[in-house]
Amino acid sequence: MTLLRIENLSASYGVSQALFGVDLQMRQGEVTALMGRNGMGKTTTVKAICRTIRSEGTLVLDGQDLHVLASHKVARKGVGLVPEGRRCFADLTVRENLIAAARPGDWTLRRVTELFPRLGERQGQRAASLSGGEQQMLAIGRALMTNPRLLILDEATEGLAPIVRQEIWAALHRLKQETNVAILLIDKSLKELAGVSDKAVILERGRTVWSGVMADVTQDISERYVGV
Ligand code: ATP
Repeated sequence: MTLLRIENLSASYGVSQALFGVDLQMRQGEVTALMGRNGMGKTTTVKAICRTIRSEGTLVLDGQDLHVLASHKVARKGVGLVPEGRRCFADLTVRENLIAAARPGDWTLRRVTELFPRLGERQGQRAASLSGGEQQMLAIGRALMTNPRLLILDEATEGLAPIVRQEIWAALHRLKQETNVAILLIDKSLKELAGVSDKAVILERGRTVWSGVMADVTQDISERYVGV
């Protein structure tokens, strides 16, 4: 079943147009990589989904037009965002951060700390005292606590030590195997991205220029549009 349907989406920052026609469809349980070089509109597409930038075109989640919703209502509709640059409550503990995000559903403190044991070990610590990787796990944990149907990760492994990145990729593989959540991923590590994603959507200058199954992203396509 189609969970997210985006068609001909456009968006601007003031007079400067950033999206000119983004098309993206996601189904439940699928992992989709949103790809493209820097500045091609990936984060802006995420902002449009989360309603933090105004957009035009089709933007429908599970039959509901997101365009009529204020940004604070989007989470309630089942969109869990792990934004670029984390963002947790620095002065709250790990546990408090997770509980503050909680909404009814299958995801509980216990399940999140089972997925990320380090968060369990550091439950009583202030978020500010965590390492960058642990903060990123906490940001993912917070998004999961909202019990999303669509989980969006914008550069979740950026700037992290290789070992922590591996833990995050392993957690994403587990989410894919064990849950029905749809995951939209933006990430610079193409190898890992390709390893977990079912589908890919490639943006160039604010437009979808390619979409299909990940396995069909050839060397040629990624050289041309992603720059590797
Ligand atoms: P990156 O990987 O660099 O984050 P991206 O694909 O996510 O790239 P966007 O951040 O969506 O790209 O940017 C799309 C376009 O919108 C770019 O031309 C960018 O310069 C512009 N843009 C992004 N944020 C703003 C802003 N706050 N104000 C004005 N223009 C912006």
